[in-house]
Amino acid sequence: MNVQLSSEELDNEDIDKIIEISGANLFACYQCGKCTAGCPTSEFMDIPPHEVIRLLQFGQIEEILCKNTLWICASCITCAVRCPKGVDLSKIMEALRQIFLRKNVNYVHPNEVPNEELQTLPQIALIANFRKFTH
Ligand code: SF4
Ligand code: SF4
Repeated sequence: MNVQLSSEELDNEDIDKIIEISGANLFACYQCGKCTAGCPTSEFMDIPPHEVIRLLQFGQIEEILCKNTLWICASCITCAVRCPKGVDLSKIMEALRQIFLRKNVNYVHPNEVPNEELQTLPQIALIANFRKFTH
């Protein structure tokens, strides 16, 4: 039995957003694995790059957002260069990070950071952290 994968088959707003933000056709991926084979950080990822694409093809974005993969990705673009189907996975990773951060959830609460840490951590680290993880 042939299974047709396309954005029309999936009623998933987040998948549409990923395609819009990244401009990448994730449905062109045929799981050759070249992206993962060339990725310098894949061994540290909970889910390897080619599996990120596969999960997205099936609309399972939540399975990805709770894993470390999108934050371990170094945006080096090796995957995009190696892909025989022209899928720019580095842009898809960036789109995933944006979608995660746009969910308007505070992952760090400035008022709950212990005083000791506020006094010892570099200010630039604190500011970068608040910009990334608070709204
Ligand atoms: S290299 Fe391209 S076609 Fe191959 S698994 Fe990765 S994204 Fe899919
Ligand atoms: S852009 Fe990210 S996923 Fe792609 S090869 Fe580099 S680290 Fe790996």
